Amino acid sequence: MAIDLHTHSRYSDGTQSPGELVAEAAQSGIAVLGLTDHDTTAGWYEAVAAARSAGIGLVRGMEISCRYEGISVHLLSYLHDPDAAELTATVTDARRARLVRTRTMVERLAEDYPVTWEGVLAHAGEEATIGRPHIADALVAAGVVEDRSAAFAGLLTTHSKYYVSLPTISPIEAIRMVREAGGVSVFAHPRASMRGRTVPDSGVRAMIEAGLDGLEVDHRDNPPSARVKLRDLAEDHDLLITGSSDYHGTGKPNRLAEHTTDPAMLERLAAAASGVPLIGG
Ligand code: AMP
Ligand code: FE
Ligand code: FE
Ligand code: ZN
Repeated sequence: MAIDLHTHSRYSDGTQSPGELVAEAAQSGIAVLGLTDHDTTAGWYEAVAAARSAGIGLVRGMEISCRYEGISVHLLSYLHDPDAAELTATVTDARRARLVRTRTMVERLAEDYPVTWEGVLAHAGEEATIGRPHIADALVAAGVVEDRSAAFAGLLTTHSKYYVSLPTISPIEAIRMVREAGGVSVFAHPRASMRGRTVPDSGVRAMIEAGLDGLEVDHRDNPPSARVKLRDLAEDHDLLITGSSDYHGTGKPNRLAEHTTDPAMLERLAAAASGVPLIGG
């Protein structure tokens, strides 16, 4: 009865359609899947149909790109109303800004490597939230790097001369918007230090004060020692604790259900949300 609450489809930087992702989840014995594409809910419709036909549960979600004092923060929103005005306008703006920023990165890279903007777009699904993973795919296709991981280890790191940061909102604001949309907010991979600096404890506390609902404790990017501390923090503040794979299809080594969420936590999460219901499960 595995519950995996954080995965990506081709509507962001996963490599499968929502239908393919849900079908694979059902085949691998997952009971409840969360679809959490970056800054979009465009995959929800297809995922709902696929989950109903496969007979598994679906938690509709989204992963919001934020920044706290210069540090990248990913905020998971679960079961929010996809038509809530402020949140929807915010992620629509974010996707538009991503196009400009990602294109600028490609223009910089194109001075030294055989990549084009059209080539990068060819690696993204229609309507997809564009980002560095799609540049990585174009670099792989051009034979510049072996895979996405190699691209992120070199040319696409935040320290790279080709890097351009994303204009993003504060997680404090995003937490409020998620709540107003009837959703539940969970801080994704809070101690993912290999991605860059992580939010100091004071920042996590500020997010909790702003109404954060949970912490994604069990995630491969949180070092094991950090997970112990995160679990304590969550328990002290009566926050939800989740565990997830952050599956991106073939785009990342993460495997479905490599970390999972306790059924009691999912029950609490669903009870706290009022935007859209949990499907089946
Ligand atoms: P961006 O939002 O455009 O700055 O790109 C960040 C995205 O790249 C996140 O969604 C991650 O899932 C993805 N990412 C980060 N590191 C890696 C990696 N080593 N391999 C593949 N994808 C990565
Ligand atoms: Fe991603
Ligand atoms: Fe993330
Ligand atoms: Zn993710």
